[in-house]
Amino acid sequence: MTITTLSRQNVQALTPYQSARKLGGNGTIWLNANEYPTSPMFQLSGKDLNRYPEPQPQAVVQGYANYAGVPPENVLVTRGGDEGIELVIRAFCEPNQDAILFCPPTYGMYAVSAETVGVACKTVPLTADFQLNLTEIKPQLEGVKVVFVCSPNNPTGNLLKRSDLLELLQLTAGKAIVVVDEAYIEFCPQATLAKELKNYPHLAIIRTLSKAFALAGLRCGFVLANAELIQILSKVIAPYPIPVPSADIAEQALQAENIALVQARVQEILANRQWLAEALADLPQVENVYHSEANYLLIKCQDGERVFKALWEQGIILRDQNKALNLQNCIRITVGTREENERVVETITILK
Ligand SMILES: *Cc1c(COP(=O)(O)O)cnc(C)c1O
Repeated sequence: MTITTLSRQNVQALTPYQSARKLGGNGTIWLNANEYPTSPMFQLSGKDLNRYPEPQPQAVVQGYANYAGVPPENVLVTRGGDEGIELVIRAFCEPNQDAILFCPPTYGMYAVSAETVGVACKTVPLTADFQLNLTEIKPQLEGVKVVFVCSPNNPTGNLLKRSDLLELLQLTAGKAIVVVDEAYIEFCPQATLAKELKNYPHLAIIRTLSKAFALAGLRCGFVLANAELIQILSKVIAPYPIPVPSADIAEQALQAENIALVQARVQEILANRQWLAEALADLPQVENVYHSEANYLLIKCQDGERVFKALWEQGIILRDQNKALNLQNCIRITVGTREENERVVETITILK
């Protein structure tokens, strides 16, 4: 009997999430995790650390509620958006019985979080234009307790049609939770479903400070949902999920002056995305630059592996999507600083 065989069978079988950081690389230019390219400056305000933190730091809850335009009882603060994903599965899915459903190619954590707790995954691929295939989803909903959709979708970058999301919410009413992952919503804020919360008690929205807020190192995310759903998630969350230093900086990050800064940085990323998309589209090695509403671009190359490896060797670390469903020869590139984007284009240009 080894320690490995003592572990649960589904854990033995689990393929862990390949985080950008774990994949390594000798990078000087990191464009593989959709982070903001530079760090904002915050200072800890020197709060006591001998006491446990507030289970739900009130100033952070209120600050995010104001920002998102929802009442504070519709907000749960989590250890990154990823914890929100896991909480919904743990609170709603019976192990070895219920399933989640998601639509690849999409974010990898839905599958990892479900498999870890012994919940089955059903998949219905996105259509050729990366939209929901509702005709195929409908007959698959039996036994499904949570449906995960991601808009803008990671790694494709497009928004899911609002009418499809609303139809999905109709189809699942009273049967399953619909989680809309809005990790990148700051790059297209008009597309949020936050205003729909009052119409759908089974809607949960995932948010994070890791992307547009430029605070991936803080590990702070949110679930937005109606009070009843938030109360259920509160039962299964760890007692003190948000460390005092994280809550301190999150509170500062949610003040009006800083939100104005975030919005200015978003405009800069959008301008740089446009520049990068146009420059990449001109390269003979690049077959397609997909339309993006987020801070990254998905491109299809003639030979994706060659482009990915050549840049890797130059210290430019991108995210290879070759193994993702229907994304052969595709690479995801985070929009970096103007200089970083120029390096990407130059390096691909001189590939023969
Ligand atoms: C980055 C990301 C998240 C959450 O990331 P955290 O750092 O855990 O907040 C959730 N969903 C998607 C699609 C993401 O890309």
